[in-house]
Amino acid sequence: MTAQPSSADIVAFADLDDTLFQTLRKLPGADPTTLTPATVNTQGEPHSYCTPAQSALLEWLGGRGVTLIPVTGRDLTALGRVTLPFFSWRVADHGLSILDPAGQLDPVWASQVAAALQDLQPALSEGHSLMTEWAAAAGCRVTRHQAAGLPFMTVVKHPAADPEPLWALRQQWAQWLDHHPNSPSLHIIGNANNLSLLPRTLGKRAAVEYLRTQHLAHARLTLGLGDSVSDLGFMAACDFALTPQHGQLLRAVLAADLPQQ
Ligand SMILES: [Mg+2]
Repeated sequence: MTAQPSSADIVAFADLDDTLFQTLRKLPGADPTTLTPATVNTQGEPHSYCTPAQSALLEWLGGRGVTLIPVTGRDLTALGRVTLPFFSWRVADHGLSILDPAGQLDPVWASQVAAALQDLQPALSEGHSLMTEWAAAAGCRVTRHQAAGLPFMTVVKHPAADPEPLWALRQQWAQWLDHHPNSPSLHIIGNANNLSLLPRTLGKRAAVEYLRTQHLAHARLTLGLGDSVSDLGFMAACDFALTPQHGQLLRAVLAADLPQQ
């Protein structure tokens, strides 16, 4: 991958999974001949795909004058399994890791993250221990993830992707967090397949704001692309926001039947 100077006027910050591509499970009835592979699994086989509309969007975002910056919850290894070309900055680990155009971790961001994570370690560890106990009783699997050399996120998954036990576990975690002194600094995010506890204050939004002010101040227009409610923060930090038709975010907004005021 060749690094290009990021001199583009338009910068697009884009979530990846379920925004720019998704697995076949999320594409029932799609004609496989119209799909373009976008990621591989750990065995190197195609795993997620772009629809024709997503391919057209990517073509446009890959054009002259636009810099495309992924903003993903994937860790650096999983980001490496995305086969789309990225030439500029990359945000991984839900915002906690920022790679420069040459693929090196941004040291300034990494040291800010490490300092903030130090303070949150007791709360993160407590949340992790509690969930490990609850999840075992509910038949769910718990993993812990690191960024800047420190644990930052606990992820819970159900082996059969059953949303009901995950929802019950989410309630338990939320109740604990509501009464915790670090409550404003942490949050729980999730979808039908998984549930995560991670820092709120170091997320995708903070990473996008850091890049905008420190490295991309020349941008005349910034776009935020995301499918999930948890993407809203960074999308709101951009000039315009773009969200896919069947994504969690649009479904939530439509279901809320918001009053016009
Ligand atoms: Mg997504």
